[in-house]
Amino acid sequence: MSTAGDFDSRQLMSCGIAIVGAGLASLRTVDALRAEGYTGDITVFGAEKYMPYTRPPISKALLHDSAVHDAVALTRRSTSARDRWLLRTRIVGSDLTKRTLTADDGSTFGYEALVAASGVEPRRLSATAGRADCRSLRSLDDAQFVQANVADGATVVVLGAGFIGCEAAASLTGRGIRVHVVALDDAPMVRPLGALVGGEIRRRHEAHGVVFHLGVGVSAVEGDDFAPVVTLSDGSSIAASLVIEAVGSRPSTSWMEGNGLDLTDGVLCSNDLRVVGTADVVAVGDVARFPNPMFDDVARRVEHWQMPMFSAKRAARSLLAGSVTTAPAFDSFAPMPWFWSDQFDVKIQSFGQPGLGTDVTVVDGELGADFCAAYIRDGVVVGVVHIGEAKKAAKFRGLIGTSMMVRS
Ligand SMILES: Cc1cc2nc3c(=O)[nH]c(=O)nc-3n(C[C@H](O)[C@H](O)[C@H](O)COP(=O)(O)OP(=O)(O)OC[C@H]3O[C@@H](n4cnc5c(N)ncnc54)[C@H](O)[C@@H]3O)c2cc1C
Repeated sequence: MSTAGDFDSRQLMSCGIAIVGAGLASLRTVDALRAEGYTGDITVFGAEKYMPYTRPPISKALLHDSAVHDAVALTRRSTSARDRWLLRTRIVGSDLTKRTLTADDGSTFGYEALVAASGVEPRRLSATAGRADCRSLRSLDDAQFVQANVADGATVVVLGAGFIGCEAAASLTGRGIRVHVVALDDAPMVRPLGALVGGEIRRRHEAHGVVFHLGVGVSAVEGDDFAPVVTLSDGSSIAASLVIEAVGSRPSTSWMEGNGLDLTDGVLCSNDLRVVGTADVVAVGDVARFPNPMFDDVARRVEHWQMPMFSAKRAARSLLAGSVTTAPAFDSFAPMPWFWSDQFDVKIQSFGQPGLGTDVTVVDGELGADFCAAYIRDGVVVGVVHIGEAKKAAKFRGLIGTSMMVRS
């Protein structure tokens, strides 16, 4: 491992393929480029101090088990001596015409081709700015911080009732911590999964003692350090020892600004993951916004653990194929979005894009027990969500793309 300062100016043009971001997507892109036969230099820039690690345990086991890098480190498949990992090095600017990147210490690097793998970063609320006892949950350091600063029996306020907020609430409750979840939405996870499944998730959390404050915002967070008092928009307040902010994320694209790219909600890519307006830049993982013909021609980002694997393989092929005009005709890229979420003893699995559905119907089991819900748009299933035994879920993914009418 090196730092940016280890590279002198004569090496500037020797990055080969530069990858910005050192997470799952970047690691799998290195693997894919090597598997496709690329033997030149690859230089990876990572803002964190760690080699790539898996993030899902951050809001699950790592809130009660030990949170060390070894436990979550991802396995490197490529062992090429021409892979260089520059950790603790944040890229702060780029010039795609000159093919240069600028790091936070002022160093400049040249590259032959570029991979955007910079993922997303947590959104923060202005009400919590500057407070040491309010923390988002994205990195290993965040998990270590929460572990170290929450004693058993304490009260934690979780802001946000999306996946990460609900998982954190379940994990901390399992540790004997009292948890209040505050959200503007009317049900947990309502945006990706809708009110029916959201209501089920709420019921299961409440059965374990989680207290929801829904349909309200945060007016202020005051009080001494590690004794925050959270005042809600309905005038009520909650005294706690820590606040976890899980209010969504924003793509890490500031380093690409000024190049005329479409950076609206991630970097816009064509279906082959080439960044639109470029011939030698691709994007992978959470930061990439691309159309998936499984659904329609609208470009969307997908923040799921599986997507970096799929996108890395496709992006590597696109990059090595050269410019758009010389690229061979690949099959279209139509990966099945899939994610899981563990909350208490409940395993939630989602296939497709449930958020696109306008109707939802239970197709197996029943609410209150294990069940599967299908999400339907214009008579076609666009997503399925299964709650219950993990092994049973996969059989329902075949429903996606099939016709189904819902009787009103
Ligand atoms: C707490 C948590 C729980 C999750 N649980 C699940 C789950 O249960 N199931 C599921 O399917 N998915 C889950 N996910 C989502 C999954 O982890 C992500 O989809 C995956 O990590 C995306 O990988 P990535 O490499 O695209 O981005 P990231 O993992 O975010 O990696 C990007 C890296 O780039 C670095 N970086 C950013 N900008 C720069 C820059 N300018 N210069 C240098 N480096 C930079 C960042 O520091 C980061 O290390 C979870 C995510 C989190 C945070």
